[in-house]
Amino acid sequence: MTRRLPPNSTIGILGGGQLGRMTAMAAARLGYRCHIYAPEDDSPAAQVSAQTTRAAYDDAAALEAFARAVDVVTLEFENIPVDAVRRVNEITPVYPGADVLEICQDRVLEKRFLNRVDVATATWAEVSNLAELERGDAAIGRPAVLKCARFGYDGKGQVTVRSGVGLAEALESTGSERCILEGLVDFVCEISVIVARGADGAVASWPAVENRHVRHILDTTIAPAQVAPAVAAQAEETARHVAAEIGLVGVMGVEMFVTRDDRVLVNELAPRPHNSGHWTIDACATSQFEQLVRIVCGLPLGATARHSDAVMKNLIGDEIDAWPRILAEPGARLHLYGKAETRPGRKMGHVTRLTRLKS
Ligand code: AMP
Repeated sequence: MTRRLPPNSTIGILGGGQLGRMTAMAAARLGYRCHIYAPEDDSPAAQVSAQTTRAAYDDAAALEAFARAVDVVTLEFENIPVDAVRRVNEITPVYPGADVLEICQDRVLEKRFLNRVDVATATWAEVSNLAELERGDAAIGRPAVLKCARFGYDGKGQVTVRSGVGLAEALESTGSERCILEGLVDFVCEISVIVARGADGAVASWPAVENRHVRHILDTTIAPAQVAPAVAAQAEETARHVAAEIGLVGVMGVEMFVTRDDRVLVNELAPRPHNSGHWTIDACATSQFEQLVRIVCGLPLGATARHSDAVMKNLIGDEIDAWPRILAEPGARLHLYGKAETRPGRKMGHVTRLTRLKS
């Protein structure tokens, strides 16, 4: 069990991005302070937090000083080196823990874990060299997707292997030694469920939402997903099962495909608040960020009931320039991340538009 931390305690957050920023804002509302650990200067999370340590994730002395300065630690970025998390955890508890992070950082470990706990995924094969890729290609068939096993995000380090594609050059193009080959899922839509689990094993989830991507980056989330009730129930049940089996203490985004025959296949796990859960800030009794704060501070989980349906649109790159128009729109809830520089593909903010609850 986590001990209950009273308001005014300090939550350390590894990572300085917008997820850390929104976690810190939720923490502030409940009277907690945040201390951000991030290598970048002027990070979105640091701008709204009481303290910052600006240091690299392999700076042992800085990690130890950070761990001693805070009461509990969480993370907002899943590629924090596991060694850094272990080092901090020797001094101050980190939620979610290094073991969960280790699985989620590696697509092969992730898929192996999922299948071991009877969660359906695309067919897949581990690929560390050309011979293994040839064997995987023969077993899975085409089209397939070759992805680097680690540090890939938003479609980076991925190549679709269609008929006519040379395996050697596909492997080369991922830029990675360690890959996973997955059968290409012919999905009707992509959905996700945000699930939260406390140290006492209490689990809460929000309804499944539909995610639409543009150039591999999440563009729009529709809450709830317009799928058959049985599909939505299966998705939520799967996410809760994953959270329990992996031993999550924290919040996790579970990304899934819905197939033409209404099966739900898990694609990816993100052991932190997730972009497809941003709508919960404006449409639910408790947001994914507040839930994370509650969990790491040992408080009871909050109700996840929604008072509205919602559509969340990411503001990517120069889409941010529409902010004055969005501000003028009745009912549009604008969230900007304080990033000084606009770059193509960079998530600059999001807008949530609430609609009347349908069910
Ligand atoms: P990922 O980096 O695994 O989240 O993949 C990024 C996007 O690529 C997903 O959101 C899907 O749109 C697509 N994708 C990834 N893996 C598959 C797959 N096995 N079958 C079909 N589409 C995929």
